Amino acid sequence: MIFRTRFAPSPTGPLHLGHAYSALLGHDMAREAGGEFLLRIEDIDQTRARPEWEDLIYEDLAWLGITWDSPVMRQSGRMTHYAAALDALWVRGLLYPCTCTRRDIAAALGAPQEGGSPAFGPDGPVYPGTCRPISPPEGPLPPRPVDRHLRLDMAGALAALDPGDLTLTETGPDHAGRITPSRDSYLLQIGDVVLARRDFGTSYHLSVVIDDAAQGISHVVRGADLFDATPIHVLLQRLLGLPTPVYHHHPLIRDEGGKRLAKRDDARALRKFREDGLRPGDIRAMVGLPNAA
Ligand code: GLU
Repeated sequence: MIFRTRFAPSPTGPLHLGHAYSALLGHDMAREAGGEFLLRIEDIDQTRARPEWEDLIYEDLAWLGITWDSPVMRQSGRMTHYAAALDALWVRGLLYPCTCTRRDIAAALGAPQEGGSPAFGPDGPVYPGTCRPISPPEGPLPPRPVDRHLRLDMAGALAALDPGDLTLTETGPDHAGRITPSRDSYLLQIGDVVLARRDFGTSYHLSVVIDDAAQGISHVVRGADLFDATPIHVLLQRLLGLPTPVYHHHPLIRDEGGKRLAKRDDARALRKFREDGLRPGDIRAMVGLPNAA
């Protein structure tokens, strides 16, 4: 099997040191394995994606000495693939429309809870199930653009799968090994996640899974902030009949105060370091990577 990884930034702001670490680490791993490194622009959120941020991604990566192997994949051009997957899940009765706003969910969760406070999942508070139908909706998937979210019926999805089959291999330093998330963790800590947002007709989780498979990614190298979302990705891979890559979640780069870096944290933008006269080797040293031979 060829080792093939990718860097998948969203063009919604300047890349910072954390992105440099992720991209360089993936690039180093691919080169060491004699494999391939691909680039994917995750621009499904067209309200936040900007061409100038995308251009800056190419400039920053080139400056770092990163090269990618085949044409860049851009998610905004792949909506028909996401729609086809949604159709397939809908036909199996695994999706339902949801009109809840964040405020509705907060209000529902604000009501006294049986057994303590509401759980927080990878996407925020675990959905309380307000719009979940008693039986799966019938008829074809309502036309898009949707005026509501489409949520995954997590209990239905688990019932359609062999729970022992939800195993993934993690090679990152914090959780290395074979991991099989429990059925309870799916139900109680993840819940009915949104697979198609009302505003852009898909979601990060659905698109990332479809595109990792489409690009033939064997190893996903990304920040530890996405570790908790990975069981969702494995579950979607099983439902859609897609392969599961090996996952490598790396520690996050933090500022002096221990806070993780954000896109708005312009002070650590790669562009700024470039303008200040730093060299790519300085960036490698700052994130703790050895200099390339
Ligand atoms: N687009 C995501 C981000 O910029 C990364 C997704 C991934 O690597 O799976 O945070």
